[in-house]
Amino acid sequence: MANWESLEGTPPGHRSGFVALMGRPNVGKSTLLNQILRQKVTIVSSKPQTTRTRIAGILTRDDMQIIFLDTPGIHRPHHQLGQAMVTAATGAIPDADVILFVVDVSQRPSEEDLMTARAIRQGTQRPVILTLNKMDKLPPELVTEHTEAYWELIPDHASWMMISAIKGENLDKLVKSIAEYLPEGPRFYPHDQITDQTERAIVAELVREQVLRKTRLEVPHAVAVTVEEFKERDSGAFYILANIHVERNSQKSILIGKRGQMLHKIGPDRP
Ligand code: GDP
Ligand code: MG
Repeated sequence: MANWESLEGTPPGHRSGFVALMGRPNVGKSTLLNQILRQKVTIVSSKPQTTRTRIAGILTRDDMQIIFLDTPGIHRPHHQLGQAMVTAATGAIPDADVILFVVDVSQRPSEEDLMTARAIRQGTQRPVILTLNKMDKLPPELVTEHTEAYWELIPDHASWMMISAIKGENLDKLVKSIAEYLPEGPRFYPHDQITDQTERAIVAELVREQVLRKTRLEVPHAVAVTVEEFKERDSGAFYILANIHVERNSQKSILIGKRGQMLHKIGPDRP
């Protein structure tokens, strides 16, 4: 039966569950999530620690629904906000049916990868898929050395997969192997819902991404964005009024720039 949505309950064999994306900052968790969902639900930047909260991306197919928890990444906390981010990251573990331990296989494991592996092992008995990302950047002569080094971090992992989030390589296989570990269960969200964030929250994250991209602010998490107004105009364009909050006055002047040039760059491209 192709269209079972008109039916009550769950189709036979339907699987569903929560998948936590764990990994140190910058390994490509947000990129992976965006590629799997093919929409931009979480911001990506080359600066670490851009993801601040747990964002659920929802993948719905006829036979399964996977709810992804994107985490800020485990790192050494330097201050209170850092501590809150670590708590949010480890907090996702017990909720998850499957853990994706995402690493950058083009580099050797770092201290933070080790901390992440330890947090996963202490936090859950659930299956872990070691997700070796950035295979496009891995020179052939380092394949064995690097993969073995990551396997050692998580000796009791359930399986592993070599992927490239950016190139979309092996992502279908990854989704398939996630599904194998999911319990049978119903859809938790409507099929067309891809996130539990509000539109405003997504817009605020998109503005924050532009700020981080275009400025050279050394502390990315010193920036917060609140959206005051978000309206669709008759022309079909969107009108967004947002406040950008920073920690220090010096950052304010960087953001505004000479005669407002930087602010202009952060704003949308004008036709
Ligand atoms: P997160 O902090 O783990 O969420 O990492 P992001 O998704 O923000 O990605 C960090 C950086 O790695 C960005 O510059 C991405 O474009 C880059 N990146 C992510 N996945 C890949 C990949 O498969 N290959 C390469 N070469 N770069 C990637
Ligand atoms: Mg991220």
